[in-house]
Amino acid sequence: MSELATADPGLAPADREVSPDDWRQRLARALAGVPADAPAPAVWRALGEAGVLRGLYRGGNALGPAVDPARLGGLLRAVDARGDNGATLSVLVQAASALPILGSGRPSVGPAPVAAAQELVLAGSAQVALAATDEAAAGSDLSGLGTEVRFEDGGLVVDGGKRWVTNARTAEFLLVLARRRPGRHFTDFSWVLVPAGAPGVTVRPAATGLLANAATGHIGFDSVRLPAEHLVGANGRGMAVFARHMSTERLAGALWAVALTGRVLADTRERLRGRTADGEPLWHNPVVRRDFAECLVRVAQLRALCENLAGTAAKGQDLSAGALLKSAVGLTAEAVLARCAQLQGADGFAAGGVQTVRAEAAVLGIGGGVTELMLDSVADRSEQLLAEWRT
Ligand SMILES: Cc1cc2nc3c(=O)[nH]c(=O)nc-3n(C[C@H](O)[C@H](O)[C@H](O)COP(=O)(O)OP(=O)(O)OC[C@H]3O[C@@H](n4cnc5c(N)ncnc54)[C@H](O)[C@@H]3O)c2cc1C
Repeated sequence: MSELATADPGLAPADREVSPDDWRQRLARALAGVPADAPAPAVWRALGEAGVLRGLYRGGNALGPAVDPARLGGLLRAVDARGDNGATLSVLVQAASALPILGSGRPSVGPAPVAAAQELVLAGSAQVALAATDEAAAGSDLSGLGTEVRFEDGGLVVDGGKRWVTNARTAEFLLVLARRRPGRHFTDFSWVLVPAGAPGVTVRPAATGLLANAATGHIGFDSVRLPAEHLVGANGRGMAVFARHMSTERLAGALWAVALTGRVLADTRERLRGRTADGEPLWHNPVVRRDFAECLVRVAQLRALCENLAGTAAKGQDLSAGALLKSAVGLTAEAVLARCAQLQGADGFAAGGVQTVRAEAAVLGIGGGVTELMLDSVADRSEQLLAEWRT
């Protein structure tokens, strides 16, 4: 652990000590009680009320709590099994990014509004959206963001706009990455907790039929005034905190990709076994089998990479783990889902069929960092990676 290490990442110790078996049972029970077509906040509420969310984190440091990678994988597998990609995205962003960043405010010793929000979100009584992608710059150019936070009359004033924010239309709290001064230095940014109902906040739905349950939207901030205690973590630590937790979100994306592609492969295999051409199941066709096996190998590789890098990614101290994972997701998910979609023929075009799943899963190669940017980051770290492989 780094010198920032502390036993108090801001989460209640009693809840962190739920045993793995107990935690898994709580997760299964929580989701069993949620109808298949429930809105994402109902899924979140069930997870919070069962103590699943509190039991997700262990340890951490002054930049926020760290997730337990095995539990994060279990959570995403269980939520993905419901077959509602919008709800899974909603849970993923909150569990892997927003809650850990909210925890960076050290709420147990920190400002009251942040502590209160974290308590409500962990209990499942409220949702939190993570608003980083800015109206003023390409999402791939995070340091170019335009949304501002300034100190005025002892409080904060937020101005600007965010786009394509998951949970924007349902969250009670918005965690906003804003600039505190001009420039691109990593100390130029801070996180602000904005209640969605604060005067000056407007939310527009994103015009898309995909991932409907993720309640994606665009958010405007017009001179939004807040008490100074709404600053999350130290002023100017925004990018440091984000970097600390980015790898967790990238690990979460990889874990979700393994669950989602595995689910689609199982469905595709069943269809191929049941569909006959010239009296033979398509599953017996050697070309079909070889292509299917290739997909299995790709997902097995991604799964192995998750196992290999999960611990490092969750600690968040080595950015190459997250970049490798997210790159691998981009290279795997689209190829596997495209092949599955082809193998399902016309049925893949049915409402909610594999063609829609494939389009929705494209968020894995865009949200939280586009694949090209991740590959660029892997190339940047090539010397370090190759040196590690030689030892
Ligand atoms: C469904 C959904 C949910 C989202 N949820 C959230 C959320 O909760 N919070 C949030 O803050 N944001 C969210 N986003 C936004 C997401 O993080 C951004 O879309 C992403 O960072 C990419 O930014 P952009 O869309 O502006 O693409 P751009 O940066 O404009 O890039 C467009 C394309 O250009 C190419 N490109 C970009 N950079 C490079 C490069 N360096 N090298 C080579 N090619 C490149 C890539 O092909 C890329 O796809 C969400 C997006 C979607 C689609």
